[in-house]
Amino acid sequence: MKYYILFGPPGAGKGTQAGSMAEKYNLCHLSTGALLRSEIAAGTPLGLKAKALIEAGELVPDEVVEGMIKARCESAEGIDGFLLDGFPRTVSQAETLKSMLAERGEEVTAVISIMIPDSLIMERISHRAMIEGRADDAAPEIVENRIKTYHEKTEPLIEYYRNEGSYKEIDGVGTIEEVRGRIFETMEG
Ligand code: AMP
Repeated sequence: MKYYILFGPPGAGKGTQAGSMAEKYNLCHLSTGALLRSEIAAGTPLGLKAKALIEAGELVPDEVVEGMIKARCESAEGIDGFLLDGFPRTVSQAETLKSMLAERGEEVTAVISIMIPDSLIMERISHRAMIEGRADDAAPEIVENRIKTYHEKTEPLIEYYRNEGSYKEIDGVGTIEEVRGRIFETMEG
């Protein structure tokens, strides 16, 4: 089984690229953000708990997302692996993922990291806000907090996965097709 992590700051294009990656490499795409948004839409207790945090640009607790990932990684029939999009987002989540995979004798195949400068994040997200209408894209203060949260809690994963030898960085500046081409090259290289 392959276990790819799709990594990057908010607005880097993870969601945009995930579909074609999952299709080309026969992977099950798991986006913790999308899973959380569907819990919110369904009004579940988990969704209610997550809503305020997401709409403040904060992360939801590690145990919540870890539980979602564990439950969904169980069934692997007919696929060649998983594409984890937006998970892990903290070093603690990365440790949990590592032990979860180690229990099955598996490990992270590669971290595909799409990098864009902070200056482009706002531009990308305000464009997305008009198209997708996500509550956490709506106000600049929320987006600023997500950028801050990314730098504080998620960016340390770059060093973590560099040390593990699985970190692969891709320039996320360019057209969707250009970035996709770079991702496929990296996954095949
Ligand atoms: P995303 O769709 O990946 O941008 O995620 C939207 C929001 O969901 C994030 O800003 C967080 O509040 C929450 N979220 C998604 N994935 C995680 C995660 N792995 N850990 C904690 N919070 C998460």
